[in-house]
Amino acid sequence: MRYLFLVFLIISFSACTPQAQKKITFADNPVIAHRGAWKAKNLPENSIAALKHAIELGCAGSEFDVRMTLDSILIVTHDPDYNGLFIEEHTYATLAKYKLENGETVPTLKEYILKGMENNKTTGLVCELKPSKTEGRNVLMAEIAVALVKELKAQEYISYYISFSYEILQKIIELNPKAKTQYLDGSKSPETLSKESISGLDYAVHVLKKKPEWIQQSKNQKLKLNAWTANSEEDLD
Ligand code: MG
Repeated sequence: MRYLFLVFLIISFSACTPQAQKKITFADNPVIAHRGAWKAKNLPENSIAALKHAIELGCAGSEFDVRMTLDSILIVTHDPDYNGLFIEEHTYATLAKYKLENGETVPTLKEYILKGMENNKTTGLVCELKPSKTEGRNVLMAEIAVALVKELKAQEYISYYISFSYEILQKIIELNPKAKTQYLDGSKSPETLSKESISGLDYAVHVLKKKPEWIQQSKNQKLKLNAWTANSEEDLD
């Protein structure tokens, strides 16, 4: 009886132990909003409003572009310059004086991720880190991004880090071996990526048309395969 009681007690305790709750389960559809879902509502690309709309639509993911200011602040924007100012040569305070068309201030990565964690049960954040030509900045950018995601406890929300820079992806994996990464450049075979622990490839549609065998090879290597940017039915097929 004593043993039975003990067994019962153990079962009761394990039933009450709070299990780690998953904060987000990515939607089961193949749609990744590119720079957020901006087009239908005429929102600025890479704005928080476009991210929020991608989440409202229940996209499996929403991609955004990250660059680093002179004072090492990561901001969400696509081009190397912002309002005619080369981002790497200006501080965040200077760049933030210029608003996006919807009145938003150009988001920092921190603000963007925090908004992406609000009321979001479906949409993975696909974080593209834009490479720099300046020595040392790629590694620094990867270090700051990984540390920020950790600080915000946002690891679960980042479905993929993507980059044209192999150096950036390798640094991310070194800092967080569990991070998922996809290479964008189109120059490495699925076999090479797999050997070097990159989680997948996200190549231009025209690359995959020239090397259709990479599609099957990616599946064989269990790599995550994406293509940018598919705007025609033929490309989608
Ligand atoms: Mg991008």
